[in-house]
Amino acid sequence: MRDNKYCLAIVGFGGMGNWHRELIESGIDGLFVKGVFDLKQERLDYAKENNLVAYASREELLADEEVDIVLCATPNDVHKEVTIAALKAGKNVVCEKPVAMNSAELQEMINTANECKKLFVVHQNRRWDQDFLTMKKIFDEKLLGEVHCIESRVHGSRGIPGDWRGEVEHGGGMILDWGVHIIDQLLQMVKENIKSIYCTLDHVTNELVDDGFKIMVTFESGLRALLEVGTSNFIELPRWYMLGTNGSATIEDWYMHGKMVRITDWDKNDAVPVKTAAGLTKTMAPRTDETIKTEDLPHVDTDIKDFYRNVMATISGKADILIKHDELMRVMKFMEAAFESARTNTVVPFD
Ligand code: NAD
Repeated sequence: MRDNKYCLAIVGFGGMGNWHRELIESGIDGLFVKGVFDLKQERLDYAKENNLVAYASREELLADEEVDIVLCATPNDVHKEVTIAALKAGKNVVCEKPVAMNSAELQEMINTANECKKLFVVHQNRRWDQDFLTMKKIFDEKLLGEVHCIESRVHGSRGIPGDWRGEVEHGGGMILDWGVHIIDQLLQMVKENIKSIYCTLDHVTNELVDDGFKIMVTFESGLRALLEVGTSNFIELPRWYMLGTNGSATIEDWYMHGKMVRITDWDKNDAVPVKTAAGLTKTMAPRTDETIKTEDLPHVDTDIKDFYRNVMATISGKADILIKHDELMRVMKFMEAAFESARTNTVVPFD
């Protein structure tokens, strides 16, 4: 602590480590970044250019008594080692996602946090995404009636990055990278037991790790969700697509373009048939405007700085942590079940 502010130090000062620095330096009351440790000299030099302490080793960083919180933003295979060392040094830990390589590693991390009586939380930052919170509001408030289908997708066309993300031993692959976010979001939205998971993996540009996937999730009530990540999609499908008994909603992109369409009149059901050169359909004829209403998406306020506000409030005993260990474990076991389903090409029971 310094001047009653929590002091944070970063292990792994790459792209995401620097994102955290910029977020905190843009102003979060009661928190500052003191310094970093990274294996690469160029990242230590960059830290110095930004007036941060560049620790000579991880041990030196952990021995700094002023440091209250250690952020671990290394590649995924190093999370366990850094987290456990920091907890044992008496630090609170914020770890990047995916928290670990598997559920056994996560269990060790949780056990150490409990033994050391320190906070151990994971940066599931996409719980603060506006698109997710908007869809969650539509779901929670039953704005579409009873939802029976949710599709959550992230599509890119750049393949998998050519760094550690393409290598199994560092925890590469899209299930661990993006899957962990969209699975966590789904489980935060649908608070039901899951009956089963069926997963297929893509290997379009990378043979070693999955560069995309599709997961079909069936919940106990029958609600189904499709989770999909693609990195060879030159035309993107909508980020979200939700179907309820009374309407549909979509969010097209990262910028919240989207709409809700809801039924206003079930009785007027006369359809003008659609005729194409080779056929005719009434079933698939679009509805006419007098039976439906197209509306803007509801607005939800969100602020990612609340993640760190909650971390500090939890350390000082004024709040409960928002991102809980049992939630992390359920997501980790979900990812393991998805890999098992893909490996055996079977529908895997869950929960
Ligand atoms: P990166 O490759 O840009 O940075 C990783 C850094 O860690 C590198 O500078 C590397 O030199 C350093 N490093 C590696 N091993 C180390 C060790 N043993 N000790 C100290 N430093 C070490 O990767 P990134 O994109 O910043 O990803 C880092 C972590 O953040 C990953 O776990 C990733 O999944 C996560 N991430 C999260 C989000 C999010 O939205 N929550 C977004 C991107 C990345």
